[in-house]
Amino acid sequence: MRVAVVGGGISGLVAAYRLRRALGETAELILVERRDRVGGILRTVEIEGEPVDLGAEAFVGRRPEIPELMRELGIEEQLVHPAGKRPLVWSEGFGHRLPERTLMGIPAAAESVAGLVDAATLAMIEAEPNRPLTWVAGGDMSVGELVRDRFGEKVVRRSVDPLLGGVYAGLADSIGVRAALPTLAAALDRGAASLTRAVSEALPPPSTTPVFGGLRDGYGVLLDALRAAADVKSEIGTAATRLARTATGWRLDPVGEVDAVILATPAPVTAELLRAVAPEAADLAAGIDLASSAVVALALPADTALPDNSGILVATGEPLRAKAFTLSSRKWPHLAARDVALVRASFGRFGDPAPLSWSDDELIAAAVEDLSTVTGLDIRPLHAVVQRWPGGLPQYAPGHTARIADLRSATADLPGLALAGSYLDGVGVPACAATGTKAAAALTAQLG
Ligand SMILES: Cc1cc2nc3c(=O)[nH]c(=O)nc-3n(C[C@H](O)[C@H](O)[C@H](O)COP(=O)(O)OP(=O)(O)OC[C@H]3O[C@@H](n4cnc5c(N)ncnc54)[C@H](O)[C@@H]3O)c2cc1C
Repeated sequence: MRVAVVGGGISGLVAAYRLRRALGETAELILVERRDRVGGILRTVEIEGEPVDLGAEAFVGRRPEIPELMRELGIEEQLVHPAGKRPLVWSEGFGHRLPERTLMGIPAAAESVAGLVDAATLAMIEAEPNRPLTWVAGGDMSVGELVRDRFGEKVVRRSVDPLLGGVYAGLADSIGVRAALPTLAAALDRGAASLTRAVSEALPPPSTTPVFGGLRDGYGVLLDALRAAADVKSEIGTAATRLARTATGWRLDPVGEVDAVILATPAPVTAELLRAVAPEAADLAAGIDLASSAVVALALPADTALPDNSGILVATGEPLRAKAFTLSSRKWPHLAARDVALVRASFGRFGDPAPLSWSDDELIAAAVEDLSTVTGLDIRPLHAVVQRWPGGLPQYAPGHTARIADLRSATADLPGLALAGSYLDGVGVPACAATGTKAAAALTAQLG
C-alpha cells in the first residue's frame, strides 16, 4: 500500500497521521511538500530565544479537533488559553471597545455598537425589525450587502470588516453569509423577519468556556508530533506537478505510482493537479479567490506600556496600513512572563495585495508607526521578523458552500482520491484538521 499526501500544512499532516493510524505501520506514506519545511501557514520561529508563531497563533478551543489531537499525541500539557481580555477597534482616531454579543461583528441590538457608530446608524439598527426583509431561502449574498442594507455602512466598516479581516483577510464584501455564518443563514432560511431577529437566533448562548486555545511553545510542537506519529517518507522541497490515473491507481509526478492520493494543497494548486482527471472540479477549485497577508512580529522592551487589551483591530477606511495588532503579551498569560513584550502587526486585506510587495524595512516601519499611532507610545523594537503569506487565505465568497458541494460531487467517482484543505469547510486550523481526518477516513474506507 503506497499513499501520497500532497501538501504538508495542517490539513495534510493530519491526513497523514490519520492514515497511519488506520492503515498500520506497513503502509508506505509519502508526504510531498513544495517548501523546505512542513507546516504551511503554521510556522514557529525563535525570537530572542523563545518560540513565536508567525502564522496562526490560536484555534477555536470550543471545537474538539485540536485539543483531541494534542491528547492523542501526548502534548496536552502544551494547551494554553488567552487571558480573556477584549480587543479594541480603532476607528476615527480612537480605540473603542470591540462590540459584545455580535455574530462576526453583526449586532443583535443597537446598544452593542453604541459609541462605535453614530446616532443615525443606531436609529437605523433600532428600526430594522420594522422594515420588511427579503431573503431567498437557500440563497446567498455577501455579508457586506446584507449588513449595509439593514444596519448601514458604518457597522460594516467598523464592526464586521475588522473581524472578517482577521479570519479571512477578507472584507464583508468578499465573504458570503452562508459559508461564513451558517447559523445566520439557517435563521434567515427559517424565515426570521429581520436581521436583528436572525442574529439573536443565531448567537450561541453565553458561555464561560474559553473561546480560543493555543500551544505554549507554538504550533511547531504540534507539527513535530504529527510528523513523527505519521511516520511518513517526506519529500520536502518537492512540488507535485501532475496527477494522472493508471489502471490500478494513480501516477503523481515526480513521486511515481501510488494506490491513493490526498490533495491537501491550496485551491489553485488543487485545481492544476485535478485539471487532467476532473476538469469540472478543477474549474470549481480555480474559481476560489485568495487573499494575501503579511505578519510583522515585534519584540519590544518588556516594560512597554501596551494597553491592557488582547489586540487592536482597525476599521476599514482608516489612514493606517496595518489591519490589526495582536498584543500577544497581553493576550496570552504564558507570553506575559517573557523578557520582551510581543506584538504581531497584520497587513493585507482581500483586493489589496500592496503590503506583500513592500520590503521588510517598509513593513517593519509601517508596523512601528501604526502601533505608535494606536497606542500613543514611542515604539522601539528590539527585534522584528517579517513573514509574508501570499494567497494564504481562500475567500468564502457568496455561493462558496454550493461550489464546494459541486466540487465534491465532481470528484466523487474518482476512487483513491480525496481532498483536504482550508478552502473546503472553513479556514480555521480546527476546520482544516477536520478535512484531513475526513479525507483519510474516505480513503481508508475505500482501501479496506
Ligand atoms: C497570517 C494568518 C494567520 C492565521 N491565524 C489563524 C489563527 O490564529 N487560528 C486559526 O484557526 N487559523 C488561522 N489562520 C488560518 C489557518 O492558519 C490556515 O487556514 C491553515 O493553517 C491552512 O492549512 P492548510 O494545510 O489547509 O494549508 P497550508 O498551510 O497553505 O498548506 C498547504 C501546503 O501545500 C504546499 N504546496 C503547495 N503547492 C504544492 C505542490 N504543488 N506540491 C506539494 N506541496 C504543495 C504548501 O507549500 C503548503 O505547505 C491564519 C492564516 C493566516 C494567513
